[in-house]
Amino acid sequence: MKRVVVFTGAGMSAESGIRTFRDSDGLWEEYNVMDVATPQAWEKDHLLVLDFYNKRRKQVMEASPNAAHEALARLEKKFRVDIITQNIDDLHERAGSTAVLHLHGEIRKSRSSRYPNLVYDVDGWEIKSGDVCEKGFQLRPHIVWFGEMVPEMDRAIMITRQADCFIVIGSSLEVYPAASLVDHAPEEIPKYLIDPKAKTLDHISHLEVIREKASLAVPELVDKLLSNDV
Ligand code: NAD
Repeated sequence: MKRVVVFTGAGMSAESGIRTFRDSDGLWEEYNVMDVATPQAWEKDHLLVLDFYNKRRKQVMEASPNAAHEALARLEKKFRVDIITQNIDDLHERAGSTAVLHLHGEIRKSRSSRYPNLVYDVDGWEIKSGDVCEKGFQLRPHIVWFGEMVPEMDRAIMITRQADCFIVIGSSLEVYPAASLVDHAPEEIPKYLIDPKAKTLDHISHLEVIREKASLAVPELVDKLLSNDV
């Protein structure tokens, strides 16, 4: 079975009503990301950080997968599909995709602020100050913040190197190291970049750039791959 690897960014979920921050002048739902998405922010004001992510969690729970998420789930009828996402929402899973790697964490999970391996599902939409792990330490969002290591990066590179087809959807390719993933796709395989504001990537071979919204372009591409192979 051929392997399709799909790398998604915030643009994937934009049409589900979850805003990207690059499209809104560096603000993410009215917050400066550096005030809420760094280890320093957590040290300085953990209530503000919890509040920000609680609001994001509530918004994600109220959102639904869009036609692009659903189309990617259909690809599994014919291909082995790995989704590597920068998104912290769970819309790929809810659309039915079965292999989803979250590079930047998962909003619907919490983890111990002292023991990173203690990870839990969040019950409801809030993590409160005073909610603790089994060893008694405050829970934080299970999110990779700016300035933190991306623990799943090596696995993502390994998967990307095995791709027979590589698709990038809704990513400005500006947040590193995730954005460097595209450089690890085998040179000779077909690649697609779907983003209305896609930049030109002259150094990537066999790349088709589709400057169109995900909800339109992804179902079309999926239909093409299902009927013609990669
Ligand atoms: P990004 O760097 O992935 O850029 C977003 C891209 O999406 C832009 O290039 C934009 O042109 C494109 N886009 C906008 N609407 C689109 C559409 N309808 N179809 C296809 N493409 C579209 O993402 P970012 O906003 O710069 O965020 C960076 C990081 O912030 C992410 O990697 C993630 O960790 C976090 N984030 C996550 C979510 C989420 O989970 N849904 C939302 C915002 C930010």
